[in-house]
Amino acid sequence: MDGSVAIVGAGIGGLTLALSLHARGVPVTVYERAAELREVGAAVALSANGLRPIDELGLLGELEAVATQPTELIHRGWRTHDRVTAFPVGLDGSYRERFGAPYLGIHRAEFQRVLSGACPPGMIRLSSEVVSADRDGTLTLASGETVTASVVVGADGVHSGLRSLVDPAAAPAYTGTSGFRGIVPVSSLPSLPDPGAIQFWMGPDAHLLHYAIGPDGGDVNFLAVLEGPAQWAAGPGPAEAEPGTLARAFAGWAPAVREMVEAVPQSAHWPLYTLPPLSRWTAGRVVLLGDAAHTMLPHHGQGANQSIEDAVVLADLLAASDDHVRAFALYERIRRYRTRQVQRSSLVTSELLHLPDGPRSAARDEKLAGLDPWLAWIHGTDPRAQTRPAVVTA
Ligand SMILES: Cc1cc2nc3c(=O)[nH]c(=O)nc-3n(C[C@H](O)[C@H](O)[C@H](O)COP(=O)(O)OP(=O)(O)OC[C@H]3O[C@@H](n4cnc5c(N)ncnc54)[C@H](O)[C@@H]3O)c2cc1C
Repeated sequence: MDGSVAIVGAGIGGLTLALSLHARGVPVTVYERAAELREVGAAVALSANGLRPIDELGLLGELEAVATQPTELIHRGWRTHDRVTAFPVGLDGSYRERFGAPYLGIHRAEFQRVLSGACPPGMIRLSSEVVSADRDGTLTLASGETVTASVVVGADGVHSGLRSLVDPAAAPAYTGTSGFRGIVPVSSLPSLPDPGAIQFWMGPDAHLLHYAIGPDGGDVNFLAVLEGPAQWAAGPGPAEAEPGTLARAFAGWAPAVREMVEAVPQSAHWPLYTLPPLSRWTAGRVVLLGDAAHTMLPHHGQGANQSIEDAVVLADLLAASDDHVRAFALYERIRRYRTRQVQRSSLVTSELLHLPDGPRSAARDEKLAGLDPWLAWIHGTDPRAQTRPAVVTA
């Protein structure tokens, strides 16, 4: 393409886009408001649909060195340690064999370190908050500096400022649930069965998901989700919750769950949002990507993976064409439907994970046992199928 690309936000989507464009010779700068790239107390699960593109960027080996592949995917009820379902992941290598890439649990900061470490010096500008932008490609930074680019990408997350240029009425909606995150050493969890697995514990009005992270699986990252009171949505999050909130919410649950949440007495909480469909994803020279375009619940572990998919598709299209309008139109056509499907499915899953004991939860458990646990339509789809250089003729 002619000209340069300015990306607002050095999250997973923004960094993947920057690397993908750079690999194709497109000049790119990333503007990030944070002074350093880190998110405390948080990890991310990356599935094959996100990791195949990362492999194509040559970074999978580096990630695997600092990540853990779960042994199995296990669902359990809330009161006992009995397994409802169990499917192998890393245990027999079947996941990787089927989808061409592993499933990994990793510290978010490690992931961002690997992505940002692959960027040439000067490509990422930290402490560079974008305070205003227009549809003609001009950005103003908090320092007063003004920059112009041929294409501006809003990769600025759930509370995106760039979004209002594209769809002024759009706003993320609080789902009525909040996530609490924590990282606990496996050595502090003597009751935990299968500490190397990715596990869902499902109960009335709450669930807890965890998986091992780090190079040796020595830590467990958990996400506990509660039906949350409306006032938890007041801020963009994360915010401190009252000490003991989790211990109270999970009293009566299985010993392993109680041990885990009690090990983190005052977890920060993230109000969980979903973004109603935007009227469009692009306006003028501005295009949205990742959570800015399609914030979704994390119950399929897909927000970051879908941001990666967006990034590699957009990079293919921009690199192949001097006509950003055409590239934007194709990008929106390819990505809108896909992300809407994943977003909808994540919403339905939220309700299913929080059923009280009774006929509906029994039916859910029976259905889970017969399901393809990997939702092959998510993990097995090649996001670049329509945009790889060999396919697109611009
Ligand atoms: C509790 C929880 C658990 C999750 N777990 C998973 C998981 O296991 N797997 C998964 O795939 N997804 C998961 N997600 C979703 C995932 O975190 C997001 O979908 C993903 O991080 C979105 O990436 P992004 O690049 O679009 O935005 P972000 O990662 O949010 O990055 C946006 C960046 O933009 C910067 N920024 C914002 N405004 C400005 C500005 N004006 N100027 C400059 N910079 C700016 C921010 O500082 C930030 O660095 C989870 C989400 C939550 C809340």
